[in-house]
Amino acid sequence: MSDAQRERDPSLAVSDPAVHELLLAEDRRQRDSIRLIASENYASKAVLEASASSLTNKYAEGYPGRRYYEGMDFVDPLERLAIDRAKQLFGAEHANVQPYSGSPANLAVLLALVPPGGTIMGLSLPAGGHLTHGWKVSATGIYYKSVQYGVRESDHRIDMDQVREMAREHQPKLIWVGHSAYPRELDFAAFAEVAAEVGAHLVADIAHISGLVAGGVHPSPVPHCAAVTTTTHKTLRGPRGGLILSRKEFAKKIDKAVFPGLQGGPHNHTTAAKAVAFNEALQPEFKTYAAQVVTNAKALGEALLSRGFELITGGTDNHLLLVDLTNRGISGRVAAQALNACGIELNGNSIPFDKRKPFDPSGIRIGLASLTSRGMGVEHMDAVAGFIDAGVREAAAHEGAVSDEFAQRSRASVAEFLAAFPAPGL
Ligand SMILES: *Cc1c(COP(=O)(O)O)cnc(C)c1O
Repeated sequence: MSDAQRERDPSLAVSDPAVHELLLAEDRRQRDSIRLIASENYASKAVLEASASSLTNKYAEGYPGRRYYEGMDFVDPLERLAIDRAKQLFGAEHANVQPYSGSPANLAVLLALVPPGGTIMGLSLPAGGHLTHGWKVSATGIYYKSVQYGVRESDHRIDMDQVREMAREHQPKLIWVGHSAYPRELDFAAFAEVAAEVGAHLVADIAHISGLVAGGVHPSPVPHCAAVTTTTHKTLRGPRGGLILSRKEFAKKIDKAVFPGLQGGPHNHTTAAKAVAFNEALQPEFKTYAAQVVTNAKALGEALLSRGFELITGGTDNHLLLVDLTNRGISGRVAAQALNACGIELNGNSIPFDKRKPFDPSGIRIGLASLTSRGMGVEHMDAVAGFIDAGVREAAAHEGAVSDEFAQRSRASVAEFLAAFPAPGL
């Protein structure tokens, strides 16, 4: 690059030091904290590179071979590659790789399969469901008639008898199966039976667990469902984005719903990064990764139980733990804030039948995808539980606040502990 060119097109550090500094600080923060937010991960350097490519400059409304713009020489093969890899990864008949994220993917499926005002059914938000499964403040709860099933009060598991009863009573056009905070395996076959009985489309939203499904450590919903949606950035470890898989018979409807129904031009740079992530997930190492995520989650659960924490359902089958802090005399939100000051990042979360408000709930949610991406194994989970326990103890003993001195000491120990586990992409 010539000097003149460099002057016209300087690097971020030169052109915008304010933004550059914030990005560097965020890199350091992600490197030096124990990241336990269940919806997050570390994307690889290759995924980040594809995300930051010149494809961000390109418009490509339409689908490969049927576009409304010129210059598709490389965008078309790229999108086809992403589609083929997604189909191969999940064993699906059809894939749409254009959804901007998980929420638009879900809205597109509704647009494709349910007439406006039609009845839909999903797991309620307080029981671990997602907003887009018909919760009242979501477009999916405003434009559709939504009924919500929950979990059993006795064991906090999904109650198939309740699902069947509600389906018979309300005759939904579509049933969602999926969650953002449910630590147990989903029985897709049982849901499919209910859906078939009432003539509903069964749609699985595997946003949280798609990496586990791809890695073969959670049963696949694909054989049981009309369509399956997912994010690509959670356990799947790809770029921020969405994906819809479906049976061939729904392919046209779903493609039409994504574009022109809901979106304009696809984010081609993200499509490229999705292709990279799908290829990473097709490698044998990804199976090892997915299995390790679950093993680590179980081990951290055991380590927390041994320190007196209470786990919703007593443990986990997947990547996440839901901890009830009621017996520790601290709310989930206050604990999450105190732990954040100590270098441990997680979120306050409602627990089933929570007596506290969603903004200041009784629980915290913990996910193991990120730490596993850094190479941790079961032998490191006791140390992680120790950091959480120490922070919660200190905060509970001081009305929710940890002293600057305690926080600083904790952050230093956390950074030292993490130094042995390089963070992918950073
Ligand atoms: C995260 C999530 C989504 C939404 O994904 P966004 O990319 O944040 O829009 C949808 N469904 C479930 C179950 C999720 O966990």
